[in-house]
Order: sequence, then C-alpha cells, then structure tokens
Amino acid sequence: MEELYDEAEHWQLNTGEETIHAKRMKGKWRSYKWYANSFWLILFLGPYLRWGDRQAVLFDIPNRQFHIFGVTILPQDFWMLSLTLLFFAILLAVVTALAGRIWCGFFCFQTVWTDIYAWIEDKLEGAPQKRRKLDKAPWNVNKIRIKLTKHLLWLVIGFLTGISFVAWFVDAFQLWADLVSFTLGSTAIISIALFTVGTYVLAGFLREQTCFWLCPYARIQAVMIDNTTVVPTYDFHRGEPRGRVKKGVSEEERTTGDCVDCNQCIAVCPTGVDIRHGQQEGCIMCALCIDACDSVMKKLGRPTGLIRYESLDALNGKESRPLLKRPRVWVYSIIMTAALLGIGYGMSTLDALEIKVIHSRQPLFVLQSDGSIQNKYTLKILNKMTGDIPAKISISGIDGAILVDADLVTTARHGKVTPRTVFVRVPKKLLKQETTPIIFHVEGQLGEELLKAQRESIFIGPRY
Ligand code: SF4
Ligand code: SF4
Repeated sequence: MEELYDEAEHWQLNTGEETIHAKRMKGKWRSYKWYANSFWLILFLGPYLRWGDRQAVLFDIPNRQFHIFGVTILPQDFWMLSLTLLFFAILLAVVTALAGRIWCGFFCFQTVWTDIYAWIEDKLEGAPQKRRKLDKAPWNVNKIRIKLTKHLLWLVIGFLTGISFVAWFVDAFQLWADLVSFTLGSTAIISIALFTVGTYVLAGFLREQTCFWLCPYARIQAVMIDNTTVVPTYDFHRGEPRGRVKKGVSEEERTTGDCVDCNQCIAVCPTGVDIRHGQQEGCIMCALCIDACDSVMKKLGRPTGLIRYESLDALNGKESRPLLKRPRVWVYSIIMTAALLGIGYGMSTLDALEIKVIHSRQPLFVLQSDGSIQNKYTLKILNKMTGDIPAKISISGIDGAILVDADLVTTARHGKVTPRTVFVRVPKKLLKQETTPIIFHVEGQLGEELLKAQRESIFIGPRY
C-alpha cells in the first residue's frame, strides 16, 4: 500500500487548469471499455464494404440519395430518417434512465478518441507521474522526439478519422485514388482538414473539458437520472469513516471503514472526479474507478465492490420500483415502438420504382372528332435504382381505353423523377358515369430485375 500512498501525495483534483494524466489500470471494466471502443471500427472499415457494384452504405449527398445495402432512400423517404433519429434519441434516454451515461463512458466518440490518444501518450511518455515530470522538464532532444512522435501519431489518427468520415459520402476507393493522385475536390479537402484538426484538438487537448463545457448531453442527463438509476456508486456506508491502513493494526482492530483513502479511484478517473463525493456532473460513468478500487480491496483481502454499479435507493436499502411500474418506461417504450413500426412500414413499402399520376384540370376532358373522350395526365416516374430504366407505361380498368403513343418508352433516370405527359382516349359510348377509375402501370427491366409500379387515378367524362 505504501507506494499507492506515495502516489496519492502527488495526486491533484481536476480544476481544469492542468491536463489530467489518468493512470491506466487493467480490470474488467477497462476490458469492456476496449470492446465498446472497437464499435468505432465500423467508422473506419464500413465504407469499404461493397454491395453489388457499389459501396454498401453510401450517403450520396450530391445526388440526394442514401444507399443502405439493397435499399435506396431518396428525399421523399427522409421521414424515415427522422423516425430513426427519434428512436435513437429515446433509446439514449432509456439507457441513461436505467444505467446512467453508458454512452459517455463507453461509446461516445469524444471519450473513445480521448482514451486512444491517452493510451498513445501513456505508451510514449510513461505513467502519469512521468508524464507530468516530462511536461515540466526543459526541452531537450529526447523530449522533442517523444512529443513529436506523439503529436504526429495524434495527427495521423485525426487524418484517418477525417478520411473515414468523408468515405461515407463518396466512393471510398475513389476517395483514396483521388487522394494519392492529388486530385481531391475542395469539399473533401476541407472536410478532412476540419476533422483532422477537430479530432486532434478535442481528443488531444480539450479532452474532458469537452464533456464539461461543450457537450449539451452532460447538462440534460441530470433530468434523466434519478435515485433508481444504476450507476457507478461509492458505498459510503461501507467505506466511511475512511482511514489509511496503519501498520500493526489488524483488520479486527480497525475502527475505520473499508476506504483506505488511497486515491486510486481518482488517479484512474479520466475526468479527475472523486466519486466518493457522490454523483457529479463530471462523472462520465466509465466505471474505471470500480476496477481501481477492486484491485485495492483485493490487495487488502477485503470484499470488492466498495465502488460498484448500484442505485442510490438500493444503497440506502430502499426497494426499487419494478420497471413496469415506472411511467417513464411506458412513455419511452410507446414512442420507441411507434418509431420502429413507422420505420418498418417505410422499409416494407419502399419500391425501387414509383409512379405518381396528376390528372390535368384544364380542361378536364376533350371531346375528339371521332367521338371519343380524351383526358390528359402527367406521370412522374421515380427511379430509385442506380441505373436508368427504359420504362413502359400501360393502363387498365376501363374497357376500350387507349393510351396514345403507348409504344413509346420513357427513360426513367436513376435517382430522379422523370415526368411524362400522356393522353388516354375512351369511346364515349363505353363510359357509363362521369368519373371512372383507371390504373396506370409502369414496368421496366434493370439487368435481371423486373421492376413494376402502379397508381390509380380517374378518367373524367361528360355528365350523364
Ligand atoms: S468517477 Fe469513476 S465512473 Fe465517473 S468518470 Fe471517474 S472513473 Fe469514470
Ligand atoms: S474508494 Fe477505493 S480506490 Fe477510492 S480511495 Fe477509497 S479505497 Fe481507494
């Protein structure tokens, strides 16, 4: 224990004036954090996944269409995107209400990138005490070499983050080809530069200050967390009165609680929080203090869990209300289910080819010299595929109806709405009423795939 107390002498609480050099320690929660960090590999590897002849997930802003595997989403379907965002916002609220800032502690890109930057720093500069010493040391060749390597690595990660972000919006392989041939467009260059600098500054320098001062989520989480939320909590019943381990005093003789005031929980905290003061805004709930305290307890032969995931109610011996008796859980569940149903409906009704029919109002109909009645329509054919489709138009629903120039094929341009004006003629004697339902069909072949769409409209004749 002596070496831990020595270290504690040099430990300071975070006041925002100094860089926090958190100690890195192995443990169960540290491993979980690495697993969670690896979630972000999706950002780096995702753009290289192919689907047929194109990128599997491509947010093609210039052509205003999103490709997600076999599905193409055009601006007309963006309401689904709103539902998806709503679903994840509520999911975040549910997770926060139940288990605190899991997102902050384990998944948020700010904390994940900061953690990776700090890991590089730890590998190059050593443990926190060495790092602080190096910061204060005068510049010499060794310090320049270490600092230069660290900042270069940070910049490389920032640059790769920028490239990976942009690769979701353009073809990833083409992006690299343009990059190595120095033919990148200005938008891509500016985006990559902004991401490189942003990542470097936020993860390398601002670190936990971003959570304190810039992130709005840190502010609003207070209304989502209550006494029933299970979060990393210091068991003050067991820990207090805290007191240092005294030589010659056996476990049976001691009059202090289990906390030995070693400050290890603060030493590993990436935001410099002392969790023994209760829940605080600065705590991102990464649970690393649990690992630190457990390792101390194991060394002393005391039970682990002095800091553990626990709700305040449970800590105070109150019975926690069952989940289904909490109105909040019901409200969240209803909104999430509604959002999921909406997304499911949208996905199941997404067609590769869509048709809209607008009946001309002026005039409603024209009497032809051969005695037939003619109606004019504007068809809008939406092609969500990646290639142009030769679309054939036909009608049904009225016996004897003729589509003028029916053999003409319209090229439905990919990712666009193609308008086409058509005329339908029906011999007057075949019309039995003023308005008769008529169905427009559009059919086209793209490769092996036969695509079809239809839309009902009305045919208008004179009054009877
Ligand atoms: S107090 Fe514990 S859980 Fe909170 S941020 Fe610090 S190490 Fe993570
Ligand atoms: S809570 Fe645990 S890690 Fe923190 S000071 Fe007390 S014994 Fe040390």
